[in-house]
Amino acid sequence: MDKPKNLHKFPEIERTFVPIKPLMNTSEAYYESSRCLFCYNAPCTLACPTAIDIPLFIRQINTGNLSGAARTIYDSNYLGNTCGKVCPTEMLCEGACVFTKLNIKALEIGRLQNFTTNNAILKQQKIFSVDDHKNKSVAVIGAGPSGIACACELRKAGYKVDIFEARNNPSGMALHGVAPYKITNEEALMEVEFLREQFGFDIIYNKRIEKLEDLQFLELHYDAIFLGIGLGNSVEIKIKGENKLNCIGATEFIEQIKTQPIHKPFAKKAIVLGGGNTAMDAASESARLGATEVIIAYRRSESEMKAYYFEYHLAKITGVVGMFNIAPIEIVGKEAVEGIKFIRTETVDGTLRHIPDSEFIIECDLVIKATGQSKQTHLLGKIPGLTLDNTGRVSVNPLKGQTTNPRYFAGGDAVNGGAEVVNAAADGKIAGKGIHEFLSK
Ligand SMILES: Cc1cc2nc3c(=O)[nH]c(=O)nc-3n(C[C@H](O)[C@H](O)[C@H](O)COP(=O)(O)OP(=O)(O)OC[C@H]3O[C@@H](n4cnc5c(N)ncnc54)[C@H](O)[C@@H]3O)c2cc1C
Ligand code: SF4
Repeated sequence: MDKPKNLHKFPEIERTFVPIKPLMNTSEAYYESSRCLFCYNAPCTLACPTAIDIPLFIRQINTGNLSGAARTIYDSNYLGNTCGKVCPTEMLCEGACVFTKLNIKALEIGRLQNFTTNNAILKQQKIFSVDDHKNKSVAVIGAGPSGIACACELRKAGYKVDIFEARNNPSGMALHGVAPYKITNEEALMEVEFLREQFGFDIIYNKRIEKLEDLQFLELHYDAIFLGIGLGNSVEIKIKGENKLNCIGATEFIEQIKTQPIHKPFAKKAIVLGGGNTAMDAASESARLGATEVIIAYRRSESEMKAYYFEYHLAKITGVVGMFNIAPIEIVGKEAVEGIKFIRTETVDGTLRHIPDSEFIIECDLVIKATGQSKQTHLLGKIPGLTLDNTGRVSVNPLKGQTTNPRYFAGGDAVNGGAEVVNAAADGKIAGKGIHEFLSK
């Protein structure tokens, strides 16, 4: 079996990106767990896409049963540690905490989850046992959160599982995309290694499934296939000058800073195009890396941004400035980026319009395009009988993860078009159960 590439530790990354949700110590965890009201029909559990029994694991922490607490978390969510760090908890479990209705600070569920799972990972706690009794096997394409969760569920049921991964590391966007002040590379890799020890699935790295023959090989050698391929590269915005030096897609930019040493001096003035969470991350990361001025430019108004408010806030506290109702029409410069020509916009009767003769140029030396990721239709289009919706997302039965080609299952970003790690973890588990049901017939 291949080993993941040992990502170098880059001290400048660790110095630059201080964790926003640091690990609790034991006293903090006991104190915080003692605040829980252990609600009946707990709203936090209902708000968690993986339905972790939150009051139960918090009670287990409070009674000193840390191994039981870890089991409670991992039984529902195989990416328990990663999710505790990267989940937008304000919008999910913590946002639903009854304390928020009383104007009291919500219970820090994510950090309690990390306290527990971190302990289990460091102690190599054995949580699951695998009985290799099935003589059937499943191929998983992609070692991101959905693929890993699906592999765990299938190994628990006794199937042989091989994961085919295009990159040289597992964890998908949880490693290559999520901001380093939420999770470090080491932490993301540590959980996958912990799961591989528990379940014994194989990961074949540097193996992109891309040709028809690759798919035919999998169909011949495996009984079912899970598509956990996520999304593709950043989409092009199709304006003049887009191919100039230092005009880069947000996901490519973030992957670069997470996997390669940072070259300083960093950009002087960066402009991030977009109004989603990825735009906020890219802007925040540019500012933390030392860009002296960072602007988020969005073509609609501030209130129409798709980004969560707290992500925008995180960017603003690093000095990032938002500019609204401006659309880029050209990247200007000789070989490298020297600025962006914008035009002002307004919304009339629900339609976004350019305001004539309102063009202006903002100088910059870095342009980051955070205007969405493409779908992997070049691969998906080769799978016979697979239905995609009109935006290129894979259509599945949401209760089983089964696609319109019965031997193929799918989950995560490839199905939802781009959501959170916790949704991918939930989908992978559902598809694992769906595959088990399909292969048991
Ligand atoms: C910049 C950015 C920031 C984010 N921040 C957060 C955050 O703070 N919190 C949060 O919860 N979520 C965040 N997300 C979203 C989260 O990372 C994704 O929802 C989640 O990782 C999706 O999991 P997945 O398994 O569906 O796909 P991915 O994580 O994309 O994993 C897919 C895997 O499949 C591999 N692959 C793709 N095609 C092939 C192929 N043809 N053959 C073999 N392997 C292939 C890829 O290399 C990758 O490892 C962020 C996403 C981005 C892009
Ligand atoms: S997985 Fe995420 S949403 Fe669910 S309880 Fe944990 S931190 Fe909250």
